[in-house]
Amino acid sequence: MSTLFDDDSDFRPDAMGRAAVEYRSAKSILTPTSGYMDAYDFTLNPYSGCTFACSYCYAAFFSPSEEKMRDWGYWLTVKENALDLLKKRRNKPLDDKVVYMSSVTDPYQPIERKLKLTRSLLEELVGWHPGVRLVVQTRSPLAFRDVDLYRRLPRLQINYSVTTDSETVRKAFEPVCPSNKVRLRAVRDFVEAGILTCITLTPLLPVENPEAFAESLLETGCRHFIVHPVQKAKGRFVSGTRPEALTLLERMGWSDDRYARTLEVLGGRLPGLRTDKAGIFPLV
Ligand code: SF4
Repeated sequence: MSTLFDDDSDFRPDAMGRAAVEYRSAKSILTPTSGYMDAYDFTLNPYSGCTFACSYCYAAFFSPSEEKMRDWGYWLTVKENALDLLKKRRNKPLDDKVVYMSSVTDPYQPIERKLKLTRSLLEELVGWHPGVRLVVQTRSPLAFRDVDLYRRLPRLQINYSVTTDSETVRKAFEPVCPSNKVRLRAVRDFVEAGILTCITLTPLLPVENPEAFAESLLETGCRHFIVHPVQKAKGRFVSGTRPEALTLLERMGWSDDRYARTLEVLGGRLPGLRTDKAGIFPLV
């Protein structure tokens, strides 16, 4: 079994790209849900913070301090005892429990390629909790590395984030995220591997050509879709942390009307496009 810090691994960088990396022990790894996430039993976040640094990210709101909320995207905390914590759950199977990985980070951070922390947790789930209902939320093609483990979890769903058809828009809001092309390729890989895959257009950023966008999504073979608008409601996060995301949306003319028109086109072409809170309900 791979673990985070195998004796033969001294990979423990204190920076990854422009982000500072620290290693901390977490108090728990399976967090009971409530409110918006109540269709799930637990969230599972191997990391805290997210080096993908999307400018609209709501997860920034859950940063441990004002400073970290402000510096969202520039720090990452590795929960170095995550596997040990999950191992403590061995005598209490997660059969039929719905776990969402992850709610406030992407479990496939670039550092994951070598750390294999998320992979170690998946191995633990495969070995001790094959009855778990697991939804993995990501935008990283690295997730496909673990397809061998996904295949051994009968109730596994990949939610793959695709937010626009435009590289200009993607670079404006998600400059260090994988390109649209890479993401669509990853979705296709998962679908072809027989993994239940859902494209999450959450949030939907400005779309240049809704008809062609819908076509490109369908070409992946995926037949499950969720769409949500950018959350524009005034809140601590929106007003205090990432006003630039709203400003950019305005500058790009992404009005409620344009969103509605785009949604109409997508809804007419994407089968079973889910638009409300029920959209996040697990399919497994
Ligand atoms: S990948 Fe997800 S968690 Fe990370 S910054 Fe983007 S929206 Fe936030």
